[in-house]
Amino acid sequence: MKGRSGKAQPTWSAALGPYKLRPMADTIFSKILRGDIPCHKVYEDDLVFAFLDIGPLSFGHTLVIPKEEVATLDQLSDETAAAMGRVLPRLCRAIKAVTGAEQFNVLQNNGPMAHQAVFHVHFHIIPKPSVDRGLVMEWSSTKLDPDEGARLATALNKEMGG
Ligand code: AMP
Repeated sequence: MKGRSGKAQPTWSAALGPYKLRPMADTIFSKILRGDIPCHKVYEDDLVFAFLDIGPLSFGHTLVIPKEEVATLDQLSDETAAAMGRVLPRLCRAIKAVTGAEQFNVLQNNGPMAHQAVFHVHFHIIPKPSVDRGLVMEWSSTKLDPDEGARLATALNKEMGG
C-alpha cells in the first residue's frame, strides 16, 4: 500500500509479523473468566463480562470483555459484538453515575503496536475527571488527500459488500 508520499507504507500484516500467526493464548482474562484469579466484577451476562482494571488510569477505569476468546475486535462474532455494543452504553452510564465523572473515553487496542498488552478483546471505559487524569493521548493527525480518500472509501465500501 502506498501513502500520500508515494512511498510504500508498512501494512498491518507486515507490521504485526509473527503476532498475526500466533494462536490465541490462554490470557490472564481467560483466567479471570474461569475464576482462577480474582477480579472486582462489575457486570456479567451470557456473553459479556466487566471488571475493574487493576492499573486504573482514573477512578472507575473498567474493562469490558467478551466471553468468546479472540484476540482482536475483527475476530469477534456478530452475536458477541452485538452483546458488547448493547451493554457498553449501560456500563458507561453506571460508571458516570457512580464516579461522578461526566466525561470518559472508550478505548479498544488491537495488536502490540496499538498498545494491546492482553490478547483477549477488551474495551476500556476510562473516566476523564480532569485534564491530567484518565486517558492522556497524542493525536498526531494528518490531512486526507481528497483523491486518495475517494479511492480508499470506494475500496472499503467494496470490501464491506456495498
Ligand atoms: P491493553 O493495553 O489494552 O491490552 O490493556 C490491558 C489492561 O489490562 C491494562 O490496563 C491492565 O492494567 C489490565 N490488566 C492486566 N491484568 C489485569 C488483571 N489481572 N485484572 C484487571 N486488569 C488487568
